[in-house]
Amino acid sequence: MTETRLRFPPSPTGYLHIGGARTALYNWLYAKQTGGKLVLRIEDTDTGRSSAESIKGIIDGLDWLGIDYDEGPYFQTDFETDHIAASQRLLTSGAAYKCFCSKEELDAKREAALAAKKPLGYDRSCRNLSTEEITAKDVAGIPSVVRFKVPDRNGLLGYDDKIFGRIEAAYSEIDDFVIVRSNGKPLYLLCNVVDDIRDRITHIIRGQDHMTNTLKQVMLYEALKAPLPIFGHMPLTLDTKKAKISKRSHGEIVAVQFYRDNGFIPWAFNNFLALLGWSAGNDQEFFSKEELIRDFSLERINKSSAIFNYKKDDPKFITDPKAIYFNEHYLRTMAISELGQMVRKELEAENLWQECYASDRKVWYLDTLALIRDRFHTLKDFTSLGRAYFSDNFIVDSKPLDKNVLKFPELQTWLPELAARYEMLAEFTLEATEKAARELAEELAIKPGILINAMRTVVTGQLAGPSMFDIVLAIGRETVVRRLRDVGKYFKLV
Ligand code: GLU
Repeated sequence: MTETRLRFPPSPTGYLHIGGARTALYNWLYAKQTGGKLVLRIEDTDTGRSSAESIKGIIDGLDWLGIDYDEGPYFQTDFETDHIAASQRLLTSGAAYKCFCSKEELDAKREAALAAKKPLGYDRSCRNLSTEEITAKDVAGIPSVVRFKVPDRNGLLGYDDKIFGRIEAAYSEIDDFVIVRSNGKPLYLLCNVVDDIRDRITHIIRGQDHMTNTLKQVMLYEALKAPLPIFGHMPLTLDTKKAKISKRSHGEIVAVQFYRDNGFIPWAFNNFLALLGWSAGNDQEFFSKEELIRDFSLERINKSSAIFNYKKDDPKFITDPKAIYFNEHYLRTMAISELGQMVRKELEAENLWQECYASDRKVWYLDTLALIRDRFHTLKDFTSLGRAYFSDNFIVDSKPLDKNVLKFPELQTWLPELAARYEMLAEFTLEATEKAARELAEELAIKPGILINAMRTVVTGQLAGPSMFDIVLAIGRETVVRRLRDVGKYFKLV
């Protein structure tokens, strides 16, 4: 059996967006499943729109997702001689011809066809020029493009799409399309096929927007005497109003970079992307990398569009809630040491990392993450909602501050008293810290909840969280004592 060879050939004219990442992922999964290869090819022939920044964005985005490739990145512009050679072969074999019609002539013919309600396609007037006529026009310096000569055949042109089944069209419906511009530059339709032939691509999995190109390309394969690869077209990713998602209308959230920069876990995001338009045929949502590679199938890609559920005007929707749901799942269940490495990067970026892997702090660090992760949604939450575990420089939310602290001015003596008792404890344990707080509440004849809620607020800045005495142990005696003692500062602010 021949090796499967897949490719991801983005045009570097923008960021790596969700749809592109999903295409890359599906190709990667299929390559891995079949023990094949994935080629990354940057289709940069549109030099006016391609940019180095976009190339970097694509490569970094794939790297973040963990979508690795076996070959490339190749750059399409490096293979221009192949594209030109192929167009010459097509001219020589008679599968293509030079067309000397000027833009003005073509426009006039179009207008006339429109008025006469006739088909608008090219009228093929240069298709049968004699060799002498062609030479004469060349000698006269009349510019020409190269057009593909759609075979004069009855019957249907077609291919078997892995996702959509048999796709067909009458040869007569297809225009003699341009493959080389008058400036000698080969066009995408040709370059893409020439590169796929050279790269020995066996499977082309790409967006549904390329489906009409495919029919034309099927004829190019035949004319270039190359075997036809297997094609599969993936339905597009649309928003809830069935509009194509784009940066212009949806903002940053359509770019993979947004997820990297906002604390998403790469595999969680891949898992989300995988299920955006594919399912295993049952209710399973969470797939390990190995499971997804094993279970993925082209046949189970939905034929209907994938819906990216994002409501721009609703502040709850920083992105599709499903993307957050997958992130929460992995954040809360992944191996703690793996999470530790990811949170480390967040802490380092905020200058909050204190060599937690260097000594017995590692145990403290990983235990702390295990304690706090259950309410977190993204990796960013460790340095925002969870900041008090790593720094004295944290923000106390106004809601718990008003409700749990400022309402009780007596806390200015109660919490320092608790701090003093904590300092005196022979052993700073869960039982001892809880007992000390409850005893003090009893002596003061107040509900323990008043002390505990106030503690939570000044120690963590948050309204809710893990059990208070677990927190006290995680944060440590010295810091807890200092924060309890400092309660007065909040009253001075008001
Ligand atoms: N450069 C094309 C794109 O980004 C690639 C299409 C293909 O997969 O053949 O849409």
